[in-house]
Amino acid sequence: MSDCIFCKIVAGDLPSKKVYEDDQILAFHDIQPAAPIHVLIIPKKHFASLAAGETEDWAVVGQMQRVAAQVARELEVEDSGYRVITNVGANAGQIVHHLHYHLMAGARLAPLGV
Ligand code: 5GP
Ligand code: ZN
Repeated sequence: MSDCIFCKIVAGDLPSKKVYEDDQILAFHDIQPAAPIHVLIIPKKHFASLAAGETEDWAVVGQMQRVAAQVARELEVEDSGYRVITNVGANAGQIVHHLHYHLMAGARLAPLGV
């Protein structure tokens, strides 16, 4: 997707502060952190959200969650706790339409809700 910010980051056309990379997944610091630690975990393959996942995409979604746990361990927030979420569509406030998990940590996070 040529007009997708995260595809440009995957391609190296936009810079990012990477914390993890393999052949299918990239994780990097959020440009506008909403917590002391705020990392985005994305599949290198573009799909818009969980709602757009195809059968062959579910394996990488599972791997993204493994990466979230691994990054949390490496950033030493495993014991203090962290949150892993993904926004799908307008009511969740999804802005970037390339699937991503937010890994947020480093402070007591606000409760989920409206
Ligand atoms: P969403 O609301 O779509 O779930 O979250 C998108 C996230 O991407 C936001 O937290 C936003 O700060 C982050 N973001 C948007 N553009 C960029 C960018 O160019 N680089 C990085 N590192 N993060 C971005
Ligand atoms: Zn994309």
